[in-house]
Amino acid sequence: MPAYFDHNATTPLLPAAREAWLEATDRYWQNASGLYREAGAVKRKLEEAREELAEILGTEPERILFTSGATESNNALLYQLSRTQPDGKVLSSSVEHPSVREPLKRCFGNHVKPIPVLADTTLDEEAFQQLLKTESWTLVSAMAANNECGTLLPWKKLAHACREQGIPFHCDASQWIGKLPAAEFGICDYVTGSAHKFGGPKGMGFLVMQDEEETLSFLTGGPQEEGRRAGTENYPAIAAMIAALKETCELSPTIADQQSAWRDQFANNLVSKFPGARIIGAAAPRLWNTVMLVLPKHDNRKWLARLSDRGFAISTGSACSAGQDGSSVVLHSLGADHDEMRRVVRVSSGWTTTEQDWADLEHAFIQVSNELDNAPLQREKIRIKL
Ligand code: PLP
Repeated sequence: MPAYFDHNATTPLLPAAREAWLEATDRYWQNASGLYREAGAVKRKLEEAREELAEILGTEPERILFTSGATESNNALLYQLSRTQPDGKVLSSSVEHPSVREPLKRCFGNHVKPIPVLADTTLDEEAFQQLLKTESWTLVSAMAANNECGTLLPWKKLAHACREQGIPFHCDASQWIGKLPAAEFGICDYVTGSAHKFGGPKGMGFLVMQDEEETLSFLTGGPQEEGRRAGTENYPAIAAMIAALKETCELSPTIADQQSAWRDQFANNLVSKFPGARIIGAAAPRLWNTVMLVLPKHDNRKWLARLSDRGFAISTGSACSAGQDGSSVVLHSLGADHDEMRRVVRVSSGWTTTEQDWADLEHAFIQVSNELDNAPLQREKIRIKL
């Protein structure tokens, strides 16, 4: 049976999130800023949601701002810091998502120094420790888990090291939250999260701020969020996000080992069946749901098109993680050549993916491999039927 294996791109809305959204839309749709009883009820529900999120993240509710997603959170934070410190210097991992990399470029130009990754895709901690001492940095920004290969970055260590030096630390935790324990994110000065990565609605996210006074001037307008982020609060989406997060936080520890075992079995079987195939970051600590594979032959879009015809959704890395030349940021920072970049695929499972789903995907890969090997050697138009 076909299955969805692109959860790092987005996840389907969980039933609990849908229910929470419907209830909030029916009962708490008024504007939380209104001065009447029903609006007061929405405001109270909104603050309860903030408290629940704060508890999950191990932080204080006053530090949390609701946003339209991780892209807004990352942009707003970096824009804000560059406004207050226009000559600031930032240290950032070389494998960040474009929603961190691009605003960093725009706001801080060549005052951004990359923290390199090692050949196994883990962060070069020695280089980080050395770099940390070379400047009085405005910010260190490093993701918690990489969206392409799933590698976990040592964000707790980085947060503590930054604290010792008095340097603010930002963590884009979009791929971590909902999959792994989140209760220690309060140690970071800034944390980014996105609801649609853990079964919540799209267009909803949050930013944990350093303190309860800080505002974001990226969006100007009304005095919502205590004047710290303009725009009418989307309470139904917030309620749905919290419902999804509660469910995935409860579920993830119970399925993580099993899911990663099925993922490894799938990936190892393909590596042994396709000589020359390799897993990126195989030895690194990784998210339980993700595997990035470099296949030995054929353009990745040909694999995707044929797998899609069979009902399997996988990706070439991530729609929005492609480098400027359309290639993988992770492979780029590992120094991979252009040819390898054209052969990379990312497979990312979800909370309800079964062993059979993995076995079916493996079977489909083998069928597609045979088909591509036997396809006439002609320039083929790659057309993914949508
Ligand atoms: N950060 C990371 C690590 C991501 O994987 C993504 C989405 O792929 C984003 C940020 C952007 O998230 P959003 O779609 O909520 O803007």
